Amino acid sequence: MKRKALALLSGGLDSRLAVKMMLEQGIEVEGLNFVTVFCTCTARSSCKSEARKAAEEYGIPLKVLNATDEILEAIGDPKHGFGRGLNPCLDCRISMFRRAGKYMKETGADFLVTGEVWGERPMSQRPDAMAIIEKESGLAGLIVRPLSAHLFEPSIPEREGWIDRDKMMAISGRSRKPQMQLAHELGVNDYPCPAGGCLLCDKNFAARLKHLLQEDPKPAVAEIQALRLGRLIFSSEGKRVMIPRNEDETKRLIALARPGDLLMSADGHMGPTAVIKGGDIGEATLREAAALTARYGQGREEESVTVACWPAVKDEGTQPAKEGEISASVETMTRQTISVSPADGWRLADSLERE
Ligand code: SF4
Repeated sequence: MKRKALALLSGGLDSRLAVKMMLEQGIEVEGLNFVTVFCTCTARSSCKSEARKAAEEYGIPLKVLNATDEILEAIGDPKHGFGRGLNPCLDCRISMFRRAGKYMKETGADFLVTGEVWGERPMSQRPDAMAIIEKESGLAGLIVRPLSAHLFEPSIPEREGWIDRDKMMAISGRSRKPQMQLAHELGVNDYPCPAGGCLLCDKNFAARLKHLLQEDPKPAVAEIQALRLGRLIFSSEGKRVMIPRNEDETKRLIALARPGDLLMSADGHMGPTAVIKGGDIGEATLREAAALTARYGQGREEESVTVACWPAVKDEGTQPAKEGEISASVETMTRQTISVSPADGWRLADSLERE
């Protein structure tokens, strides 16, 4: 009876080799690719597209699942702790493997294949961590790691003779040489550099995310995406003021703005369109954000700059505020202007917490 494997396929070298080794053994393989809002890949070079390329090359179907909710849940209270950033790698892997197990049942796959290598990654590919992941995901004995199989107890598929243990490897550690040699032998030539990553391991991003999670434990995906962009300065009331650094960031921050957010830009001077995040924005925040907007624009040397502000997302029922008057409620504000001193913005940019 032909056996079916579900393979975790990132599109990188290790997962490609694992798939190739299973196909060479006559196993039917389906690929599974997890994406999350924390992937560092860009639209041009994403792991999803690398996984698609690999799946096409090997002629296997590919399922792409978004695991953002799983990671957010893991961040909330990780049983196994964090890595060097806000990365709960063990809990994250456990929940992804659980989800893979569920998908295996739905699709009739007999076991799971991964490109994991014994000891390659400090947190999630330590031998003890791999044992925990296997046990807590409910997949004990059903995970096959063709690149390091000889360093593990034989899995059920090996014991049952569904696959040949002798045709698998005993690679360990962080050197990529054995994989490259194997790639050469198996004719796996077109694979991407290992450039993919996870923003949760980045300390600056992790600090920003921590603040966001304190504001909202279940943030919208757009809020998380916005954390990658711009300068972030906290107002004296603790509101996030995001100042884009270029035109591309300006466009993206505006596109990611949400109801309750406020936009600001200097009248008559080129400069950034700042975004004040989080709604319920007080007058002190408005004045500080206006001064910062003036400081980062071309009117920075002026004594006074007029800054316009308006809700990022229009509410059809809003009434215009009187010219020169500050409304503390974004919900009732349309466009209004504030005159500020850019010098105050210089002072604020230096003194307020910034990451
Ligand atoms: S690096 Fe990120 S995606 Fe990978 S296991 Fe850790 S938390 Fe999960």
